[in-house]
Amino acid sequence: KGDQARDKDKADRATSEQVLDQRTRMILYQMINRGIVSEVHGAISTGKEANVYGAAAHADDFSQIHRAVKVYKTAILSFKDRERYITGEHRFKAGADKGNNRKMVKLWAEKEFRNLRRIHSAGIACPEPIQLKLHVLVMGFLGDQRGWAYPRLRDANIPADEAEETWNALYIQLLGIMRRLYQVCKLVHADLSEYNILYHDKRLYIIDVSQSVEHDHPRSLEFLRMDIKNTGDFFRRQGVDTLADRAVFDFIIAPEGPVEEPSLRESIEQLYAARAESATDSKGAAEQEVDNEVFRQQYIPQTLEQVYDIEKDAERIGHGEGDKLVYRNLLADQVVLPKTLDGQVSEDQLDEGATLDSEATSDE
Ligand code: ADP
Ligand code: MG
Repeated sequence: KGDQARDKDKADRATSEQVLDQRTRMILYQMINRGIVSEVHGAISTGKEANVYGAAAHADDFSQIHRAVKVYKTAILSFKDRERYITGEHRFKAGADKGNNRKMVKLWAEKEFRNLRRIHSAGIACPEPIQLKLHVLVMGFLGDQRGWAYPRLRDANIPADEAEETWNALYIQLLGIMRRLYQVCKLVHADLSEYNILYHDKRLYIIDVSQSVEHDHPRSLEFLRMDIKNTGDFFRRQGVDTLADRAVFDFIIAPEGPVEEPSLRESIEQLYAARAESATDSKGAAEQEVDNEVFRQQYIPQTLEQVYDIEKDAERIGHGEGDKLVYRNLLADQVVLPKTLDGQVSEDQLDEGATLDSEATSDE
């Protein structure tokens, strides 16, 4: 058999369990051809919106390494749920054609790739983004040498005798990550939970960031509060003495303060100290509880005030008044849109390193 036929076999192997469409197979085939992966294995995970496959690749020194390939499903309706992440995302304004699934899915993949790069380069533990082609994303593998993926935090196997100490430390680690994500990456994860965090050796790895939003997205604070609630609930169930959601929220968004360890950890310890003080002081623990509940229920006014008018904003951009927009940093920073507002592809919008070649932008 020739090389080509063999490569094709390898691509086909990923097809055996889950039916991949012809386009996806061609992309995998091309990636194998280019050495981005050498072989695609079975699915690590099959989800509603994407499947994740294990893959092998050769490192520069020809040793074998593992990679993960996330394939977004192009023929699904569940992306409709995701509209709330897009509305107000300027990065989606021009490129998103809600009637065109394939294009939408490609945008999600691009968004995940781009967010991963930002998170990875901020030094937050996450998969290394390696290659993107349409709806197929290749990333570093989070797992052991034998190809076993790290467990989700939900399934983390922590010995009973170190459980208390470990869960407490992980909680504090996560608060630091959330602040870093917000302050350094300018992102809110927006689907953070024990399902989208992998665990290994006392470290947390953040995954699944396609829906993560810029911190000046009109609903980012709402998403942040949801992330705080979901993760707080989880750690509470592990017996961790968690901080009030409001205290966590303020800690994450405060512009002043550390964004590096170990200072992050120290300032969290100060939050605990402040809480202990106020509990013995005027406000009782019960009152704090009520406070927290109120915080959880209320709508954060900041997001209400940020009235977002897509039409008007587009007009402003058209008149060269883009700097008047609340979301102007999104514009300054936009790289994922395949098209500009006037329909032209511009070079700086293409993620460097990503394979958004002419084929990728002209495929529809
Ligand atoms: P979904 O959108 O389906 O939730 P995720 O990005 O959360 O997709 O990935 C689904 C699962 O695949 C994860 O829970 C994890 O078990 C596995 N996974 C994802 N990315 C990686 C990776 N880089 N390395 C190892 N396993 C991964
Ligand atoms: Mg997930």
